[in-house]
Amino acid sequence: MFKAFLLKYAEIGVKGKNRYLFENALVRQIESALTKVEGIFSVSKVSGRIYVTAESDFDYDEAITALTKVFGLVGICPLLQIEDNGFDDLAEQVIKYLDNMYSNKNLTFKVNARRARKNYPLTSTEINMELGSRILDAYPEMSVDVHKPDKLISVEIREKINIYSETIKGAGGMPVGTAGKAMLLLSGGIDSPVAGYMVSRRGVTLEATYFHAPPYTSERAKQKVVDLAKKVAKYSGPIKLNVVNFTDAQLFIYDKCPHDELTIIMRRYMMRIAQHFAEESGCLGLITGESIGQVASQTMQSLNATNEVCTMPVYRPVIAFDKQDIVDIAVQIDTYETSILPFEDCCTIFVAKHPVTKPNLKYIKNSEEKLGEDMEELVRKAVETVEVIWCE
Ligand code: ATP
Ligand code: MG
Repeated sequence: MFKAFLLKYAEIGVKGKNRYLFENALVRQIESALTKVEGIFSVSKVSGRIYVTAESDFDYDEAITALTKVFGLVGICPLLQIEDNGFDDLAEQVIKYLDNMYSNKNLTFKVNARRARKNYPLTSTEINMELGSRILDAYPEMSVDVHKPDKLISVEIREKINIYSETIKGAGGMPVGTAGKAMLLLSGGIDSPVAGYMVSRRGVTLEATYFHAPPYTSERAKQKVVDLAKKVAKYSGPIKLNVVNFTDAQLFIYDKCPHDELTIIMRRYMMRIAQHFAEESGCLGLITGESIGQVASQTMQSLNATNEVCTMPVYRPVIAFDKQDIVDIAVQIDTYETSILPFEDCCTIFVAKHPVTKPNLKYIKNSEEKLGEDMEELVRKAVETVEVIWCE
């Protein structure tokens, strides 16, 4: 029945002369989401509304799934599009439409007509009244409620006539491409994919860096991160994933530093290396999945020590979230099942039994200084041997 969709977007922040940038980015993201759906579609912008029209047979469920992942959309309305063959025909089609949509007619409704074409013989108010009464004649169980109807039956008179009464919830946020780019520190855990999703939802393009430590971490642990990046990419668009071999650097730190400082020092090097790639590719910030107090390396003191090496803003969208709140989002965006696969992460292998929870920055810096030029060389090597994987 549905061959077209009306896509609704929130207008907050899109008024004014930048509106077209927002709308163009949105159209681009919609087109790109639909390239993965079976069928041929055209996307058009008509007087402040966006329409998707199927130009061929298509997979309805796939189309809805793709559209509900486009940031910037708040609602997706499947449209019944009919030719204008006069009001009697319109009324008949609406009555048939309601029968197809709602087997239980115990509903309140309101007709909401809009004329984009003023040469239609009836005014909007006349359409509302007349259509309302024909619906009541056809379905006496239905009744009118103009304040809080169960179903708002929208009728748009354009070149063709659009009929719709359902809105599927969109992903919200801002279209990707309307903000800058940021570098996500992506691990195989639950939190960082959620963090990336959340920042991307504000229109930010993502790039990612993953540190692994072969052979201490397996190929499957790496594949897990690639899979997570692909899941996030369904929302954010393609993610360039930098896979950094951190083994030698980690072994060196393990060898030379007090073990209770290991995690903090490793994390500081991770931030430095991620920041290097971020600067190289024009990112405006880093993103992590850190949350206050979750583990020893995420106390306020530890975060302060880690953050000290960062010169660009670090976005930590789940900083004040409880674990369960993060899990809920992970389930919703379908990363959770992958995140809980039991493959070891590089942080979990080289850990101290009793990590400091209140690191003293002076000691940390002192330990790092002792690592000397050898460490600089290891960092350089880790950067040079980066493996790039495009995840989409
Ligand atoms: P997550 O569930 O995201 O792995 P976590 O609770 O395990 O988080 P940590 O291991 O302390 O927490 O990591 C904190 C943050 O540091 C992660 O959210 C992620 O952004 C980054 N991070 C940790 N390990 C890695 C890694 N191996 N590669 C890239 N980033 C990492
Ligand atoms: Mg982790």
